Amino acid sequence: MTRPIQRRVFLMTLAASSAVIGTIAHPQTLVEEKDAQASALGYFADAKRVDTKKYPKFAAGQNCASCALYQGKPNDKAGGCPLFAGKQVTGAGWCSAWAKEA
Ligand code: SF4
Repeated sequence: MTRPIQRRVFLMTLAASSAVIGTIAHPQTLVEEKDAQASALGYFADAKRVDTKKYPKFAAGQNCASCALYQGKPNDKAGGCPLFAGKQVTGAGWCSAWAKEA
């Protein structure tokens, strides 16, 4: 009777440890639009909300996932950006520093 319980406790501990390691390995802190740097660069977490009058160089299809500076994989929901060290931008986001991939 104790073996199944020990096994269950072991698996629960393993799952909890994996969750902690995953959190450490992949920081989830997202850039907030109201952050000073984000505001200065006109960052939007969703490119669909870009003010095209204020940022006329924005073109449909531009987003962080298609930006040369994006450090996530194209299908990642969020990834790093060198302009926002220690935080992540959303793949669907956009800012005025968007750069075409080579
Ligand atoms: S530089 Fe590129 S990846 Fe970084 S926030 Fe701007 S659009 Fe997104």
